[in-house]
Amino acid sequence: MGLFTQTDEVSIRGPIIARETFNKFKDSQLFKEVAKKFLKNVKNATRAQKWAKIFHKEVQSHVNEVVESLDHPELIQCRKGCSACCYTQVSVTEEEAELLAQRVESGVNIDRTKLYSQAQAKNNAEKWYQMDHKKRGCVFLDENENCRVYEDRPAVCRTNIALSDPKFCDTSDGYEKPQRLLLTVKADLVVAVAYEEARSAGALPNMLDKALKKRLSILDRRL
Ligand code: SF4
Repeated sequence: MGLFTQTDEVSIRGPIIARETFNKFKDSQLFKEVAKKFLKNVKNATRAQKWAKIFHKEVQSHVNEVVESLDHPELIQCRKGCSACCYTQVSVTEEEAELLAQRVESGVNIDRTKLYSQAQAKNNAEKWYQMDHKKRGCVFLDENENCRVYEDRPAVCRTNIALSDPKFCDTSDGYEKPQRLLLTVKADLVVAVAYEEARSAGALPNMLDKALKKRLSILDRRL
């Protein structure tokens, strides 16, 4: 489904923040420019992993642009070892899930039982937050709560930059709280376009579980 054919209040798939930004900016010149550039860049990416890498590069460059232009960068609350947002229901595109699956295959060990149990929530946020807090931790976190796939982390892990007190990022009680996030408009617009163009999208555990099973069945067929 092409974004440029949509006119009214459209409900695009994808993360809430990106959808909100899309609805605000969809008629603007800025959106057209950002979308056009992204679509041109991914046009020749035949492999999912390459597509995801281009997506990440584009998002990251827009995020860096905002961060580097800040007069008071110390207002950013995100710190190494703070992993509160890694306990929320993180969304990914199918292509990003395939990139993560590739990382798992190349040696990033994950707890497959934990992943399988997280994947049972599918894309349902209510079911996700009914899970015990500890069980919700992303399978890519290490024992020090650092991301083990940092350079290939999903786009939403890049755009979620907290300005409000980190206590609002905590979901150990099963609830997401209103937060103040850094405005990353261009990056959010890229996310909106990417989710619309992606083969499919959903919650990270669900998508990664599927991607790993798909790779396994391809290997089986080759043997
Ligand atoms: S991929 Fe990395 S940054 Fe994203 S939720 Fe998982 S551990 Fe956190």
